[in-house]
Amino acid sequence: MAKNTNLRFDALKDCAKHHAERFHVKDAKISEYFGINVFDRETMRKYLSADAFAAVENAIDGSEKIDRKYADPIAAGMKNWAVERGATHYTHWFQPLNEATAEKHDAFIELDKNSRVFESFKGDLLVQQEPDASSFPSGGLRNTFEARGYTAWDPSSPAFIIEKTLCIPTVFVSYTGESLDLKTPLLKAQAALDKAATKVCQLFDKDVKRVFSTLGLEQEYFLIDNSLFNARPDLLQTGRTLMGHTAAKDQQLEDHYFGSIPSRASAFMKDLETEAYKLGIPLKTRHNEVAPHQFECAPSFEEANLAIDHNLVLMSLMRRIAKQHQLKVIFHEKPFAGINGSGKHSNWSMMTDKGKNLLSPGKTPRTNLQFLAFFVCTISAASEHGYLLMSSVANLSNSYRLGGNEAPPSILSVFLGKTLSEVLNSLENTISTKKMTPDEKTDLKLNIVGKIPEIMPDNTDRNRTSPFAFTGNRFEFRAVGSSSNPASSMIILNAAVAQQLTVFYNEVETFVENGMKKDEAIFQVLRKFIKESRKILFDGNGYSPEWHKEAKKRGLKSINNIQEAFGAYLLDSSRKLFSQFGILSEKELEARYEIMNETYMKKIQIESRVLGDLAINHIIPIAIRYQNVLIENIRGLKEFYSEEEFKQLAEPQLNTLKEISLHVKEIRLQVEDMIEERKKANVIEDIIEKAKVYAAKVLPYLNSIRYHIDKLELEVDDSIWSLPKYRELLFLH
Ligand code: ADP
Ligand code: MG
Repeated sequence: MAKNTNLRFDALKDCAKHHAERFHVKDAKISEYFGINVFDRETMRKYLSADAFAAVENAIDGSEKIDRKYADPIAAGMKNWAVERGATHYTHWFQPLNEATAEKHDAFIELDKNSRVFESFKGDLLVQQEPDASSFPSGGLRNTFEARGYTAWDPSSPAFIIEKTLCIPTVFVSYTGESLDLKTPLLKAQAALDKAATKVCQLFDKDVKRVFSTLGLEQEYFLIDNSLFNARPDLLQTGRTLMGHTAAKDQQLEDHYFGSIPSRASAFMKDLETEAYKLGIPLKTRHNEVAPHQFECAPSFEEANLAIDHNLVLMSLMRRIAKQHQLKVIFHEKPFAGINGSGKHSNWSMMTDKGKNLLSPGKTPRTNLQFLAFFVCTISAASEHGYLLMSSVANLSNSYRLGGNEAPPSILSVFLGKTLSEVLNSLENTISTKKMTPDEKTDLKLNIVGKIPEIMPDNTDRNRTSPFAFTGNRFEFRAVGSSSNPASSMIILNAAVAQQLTVFYNEVETFVENGMKKDEAIFQVLRKFIKESRKILFDGNGYSPEWHKEAKKRGLKSINNIQEAFGAYLLDSSRKLFSQFGILSEKELEARYEIMNETYMKKIQIESRVLGDLAINHIIPIAIRYQNVLIENIRGLKEFYSEEEFKQLAEPQLNTLKEISLHVKEIRLQVEDMIEERKKANVIEDIIEKAKVYAAKVLPYLNSIRYHIDKLELEVDDSIWSLPKYRELLFLH
């Protein structure tokens, strides 16, 4: 009999020890230490001269660029503060195209001519840095031998200190000026939205100077014991389990959701919150999610660029704090088959500099009309660019989640709820293209627009099956994956809405120039927009097969084929969108398209290699070991019993032996075939073609090989199975 010395049993012992450990949790009033590690406005005011401070403030509020002459004093102030708070190094913190964040640390030191060390940080270093960037994906934009990418400070996101390092949020561009990150196009899309939305606002309120998008990100994640995690090479290398039979009990009793948080997870959350508050991240909610070991946290919404930076900081903080608790945080969208995956619900709206939420109906017909303008333009944006918007969440890991257990379907539709659907219907039907009579106008204002309730009955009216739902005072884009940088989607959403607002404004102006009254012009354009966006509106069950049929009839594309979905970026309508606001040039767009394909292909390649290796050097040897036990037993039975009795008694063992052999054979053959397919694909030079072939020829093996491994898991002696099982991975309490 084999001894229990495999990784799995060691990990299970460790896991038990980890449970018994106590964790130290600090308790203090949050307001006393909120933001102490952030160089925010209040701190800046103390460390900068009045001029320099005013320059930064103007830049934050989006009106002006900072004059170069302030670079040195700002850098000096920033450094003084950071050094006082114990920082020794600084880094430009940026978001390259592989969806992670990147840093290169430098010490704040300089040597004088006598080789004496003193702390220093010059303006040049704040404004422009040249990290050796050759290994970040650039889709051919930056030749490797040049290895040049520039980073420059984004003053709208404040610098912060993590582990004695001052992190300066920056954009990342190539030597020739192309953006190599997600922040640059996001800032451009934000600027476009600001411009377009401010103009539309001014149709209603001349005093509005600026509009920005707001974003509240709900981050879902799994927590797994560190030792168990490390005993699963597939989780370790791909972020998800490539095999594993479902546990007899997982989420069917729905006893985890909103249940009491397991004490180990809760200790982690408390420490996480303490650190997040110090970094000015306004974490607000924490709760269990549907699947066992699945949780969610969400900060209050903030200006979108800041919310995204905070989300990325939060994710790295979560990884670090989890380690201190002997836990591993999993952001993969579908780490475990058969149970819920994780998303990053993106709650989005627009707000004026006067603090008015533009997607919140008001008290008067006038504010409601303004609400309708922004509401309808957003729907129209989703209708015009729905496929592109869905493509912005398309990647390998999210593809395992979309359309699965309680995850949004992969077709973009908008849920409005009963109240607003009725408002839009009435608007569409009441307004005629003929000139309206004063009575008709009054009626419209009082009885339709004026009757929109200030607070939408959203909680009773929720539809969780829609990827893009209006939830009372914001839209919630639910298709965004938990591991992704939400900037990819926000670039498109902001740009698409900016585009529709621009069209809206221009059409209203044209009517007005032709002598129509402003309100009537607004009604007319609203009606047209509503009519044109009908195809995207759907309040029914997005999970149902009928919807898929209906969507097809309406010409809505689903993103079932991920590689094909990347093509949405190259549609004429998309190219126009990106170029209209200078968000991405043709060259940048093509580069991004290539990176998406390349990343997708490489991830399939990694998963396929990991599965192949595990199948051959973990699973098959274990199965054979168990077969030998069976063979020994069968031999013994044969020796012991008469021929007649043997036949009867050995039947179960003989059957199991045969079944195991069949699975082993199938696994071996399929792994060999999969490797052959990889070999064929690997010689293809064209990245796009290679990604297509990987998806068509290699990807299907992942499931079909897994099927046989999972069958073996049920048959082979538990005491020699070396990989932690779902029932172990998913039950830490
Ligand atoms: P639920 O899980 O019920 O959808 P949560 O409370 O978990 O809601 O998350 C809702 C998120 O929406 C929070 O981050 C919240 O701050 C955010 N939110 C609320 N209002 C707005 C708004 N106007 N713009 C953007 N996000 C918003
Ligand atoms: Mg939530």
